[in-house]
Amino acid sequence: MYCQQGKFYLDPWSKVDHAIISHGHADHARWGMKHYLCHTDSKAILKQRLGKDLSIETMPYNKPRTINGVAVSFHPAGHVIGSAQIRLEYKGRVEVFSGDYKTQPDFITTPFEPVKCHSFITESTFGLPIYRWKSEDAIQKELHNWIGYNQSQNRTSVFVGYSLGKAQRIMSLIDGVDEVFVHRSIHNLNEAIASSGYKIPKTQLLTADFNKKDVEGKLIIVPPAMLDSRMFKRIPNAATAICSGWMQIRGNRRWRAADAGFAVSDHADWDGLISAIKATEAEEVYVTHGSQATFSRYLNEMSIEAYELKTEYGEEELANSETKTADA
Ligand SMILES: [Zn+2]
Ligand SMILES: [Zn+2]
Repeated sequence: MYCQQGKFYLDPWSKVDHAIISHGHADHARWGMKHYLCHTDSKAILKQRLGKDLSIETMPYNKPRTINGVAVSFHPAGHVIGSAQIRLEYKGRVEVFSGDYKTQPDFITTPFEPVKCHSFITESTFGLPIYRWKSEDAIQKELHNWIGYNQSQNRTSVFVGYSLGKAQRIMSLIDGVDEVFVHRSIHNLNEAIASSGYKIPKTQLLTADFNKKDVEGKLIIVPPAMLDSRMFKRIPNAATAICSGWMQIRGNRRWRAADAGFAVSDHADWDGLISAIKATEAEEVYVTHGSQATFSRYLNEMSIEAYELKTEYGEEELANSETKTADA
């Protein structure tokens, strides 16, 4: 997405001079831009994922900066740490690019704030009425019950979720239950996030040659790419839980031979998408990133003028590009 007046791109895939980045996931923050502009809490994440030498400027939430006459500001998207909606204002016209967002508050991410605008570009990963998330407290209770049962059977509770976002969310949900071990890709991100002053729960590194006795009956978080690894197979008495919004519909027990599935998503559910879109009071809505065809039809039926916008953004819920950092 290109802003002609501002001469910058939003979450570009090709190498450009000026990129404004909504958040650190691989389908939004890519390598090769001359200059990056992202939220303050995303800086360490981008450096950790894309390289230490990036030229990055940052902005906090709700503090506009003028770029070639366009007022640019970030607003909390509630998706992952540092995630921002990008608001652009030029000659009185306001457009907002949501990036990925989640309206439901959790225990770790800065909560979503709706932004009024003329035109809103929304994601639609879970833009079908079947997707409705439980409250964070209810999810927490479910996870704790599952962990408690595993511990009574001397089993190790292994949570599977991608390194940026889901892992920290799971950490916040299981904080204080027992010792938590994390895979190196998660550990490195945690260190980056903590180094920028963001408070996250304490975890320990699951080293490649971990001692089975140390982790038996404890809690472990690994990224999806680890599922078939030798390291994964060494975990003693593992009970595996996939944490993803898709778990709401997939036969969770059978998915990649997991023992459990929890619908823990970093994206808005159906009600979240609708309420966020209504709150923008936008005259036109562009739908991208997921169920854009179905969801834009739904919006039009609700008398919200909506159009499909095809982009390359994909789901980082499970199938993702984390294999690079997840081979240990
Ligand atoms: Zn994302
Ligand atoms: Zn995305």
